[in-house]
Amino acid sequence: MSKVITLLGSTGSIGTQSLDVCRMHGYEVFGLSANSSVDKLLAQIAEFHPKYVAVTDPAAFDRLSAALAGQTGAPKLLKGADGLRELAAMDGAGTVLNAVVGIAGLDASLTAIESGHDLALANKESLVTGGHLVTDAVKKNGVHLLPVDSEHSAIFQCLQDQHSAKTLEKILLTASGGPFFGMGTEELRTKTKADALKHPNWNMGAKITIDSATLMNKGLELIEAAWLFGLPEDKIQIVVQRESIIHSAVQFADHSIIAQLGVPDMRIPIQY
Ligand code: NDP
Ligand code: MG
Repeated sequence: MSKVITLLGSTGSIGTQSLDVCRMHGYEVFGLSANSSVDKLLAQIAEFHPKYVAVTDPAAFDRLSAALAGQTGAPKLLKGADGLRELAAMDGAGTVLNAVVGIAGLDASLTAIESGHDLALANKESLVTGGHLVTDAVKKNGVHLLPVDSEHSAIFQCLQDQHSAKTLEKILLTASGGPFFGMGTEELRTKTKADALKHPNWNMGAKITIDSATLMNKGLELIEAAWLFGLPEDKIQIVVQRESIIHSAVQFADHSIIAQLGVPDMRIPIQY
C-alpha cells in the first residue's frame, strides 16, 4: 500500500527507523524535520526527495540552505519552531509521524491534528504535558491518533476487536527494568552516565534511555496510557518483563488477557 508521510524528528532514533520502514514499503516522504543534524538531513534528502524540510536551529538552517544552494529539485526549507509548525500543518501527507524529542513536539502534534492529519505519535511528551489538549483536538477534528511507543502500540493492537475493547478493565504495561534492575543503593553509587546509556534491550535516543534507567520513562508511559486509552491510573499495572518480548497486555471484564509479543524492534510498532 502506498502512503505519503511527513516525518518530524527524522534524524533521531525513531526518525531513522521510520525511514527504514518507508524504504521497506516504498512510502513517499513529503516532509522531514530535524533540530541541527545537517549531515544526516542531507543524506535523507538525497535518498527520499522530500518537498519540504524544517530545521529548528537557526545556524543549522543556514548551513543546510548553503549546502543545497543551486541544487535542482532541492526541497523548500522552513525555519525554526514556526517552520516546524508550518510543516506539520501542510497538506500533502496523509499521516504525520511525530518523532521529535521533548515538549518541542507538542505544538507540532496539535497543529497536525487541527489541520486534519492522522497523527502517528512517538513523542510521548505531547500526551504527558498536553494530554487533554491532544485528546480533545483528536475528537474535535475526527482524526486517528496512532501510538508508536512500543507498549502503547501493543495495547492498541490488543484492542482492535471492538467488541472486547468495550469491556477493557485493566492495562498491564510492561517494563524491562532497564540496566540497573535489582541493584541496591551501594551498587548504584558506582554507576555512570555511560552505564545508564547502555539499555539491555533497546537502542534509543539519549533522553529516553536515561529515563528508562531511572524508570522515569515508565511513569511517563503510565500517563501516556491513561490519556490514550481512557483508563484511570489505578487500572494500569506496571509489570516487569526483563526481555522486552511481551510489549504489554490488556485484561477484559471476563478476566481474559490478550498480550502482544515480538522482538524488541521499534520498526514493528512504527509499521503498525
Ligand atoms: P532522538 O534524540 O534520537 O531524536 C530526536 C529528534 O528530534 C531528532 O530528529 C532531533 O533533531 C529532533 N529534535 C531535537 N530537539 C528538537 C527541538 N527542540 N525541536 C525540534 N526537533 C528537535 O530521540 P528518539 O528518537 O529516541 O525519541 C523521539 C521520541 O520518541 C521521544 O519522545 C521518545 O520518548 C519517543 N520514543 C522513542 C523510542 C525509541 O526507541 N527511540 C521508543 C518509544 C518512544 P537533531 O538530530 O537535529 O537533534
Ligand atoms: Mg516505550
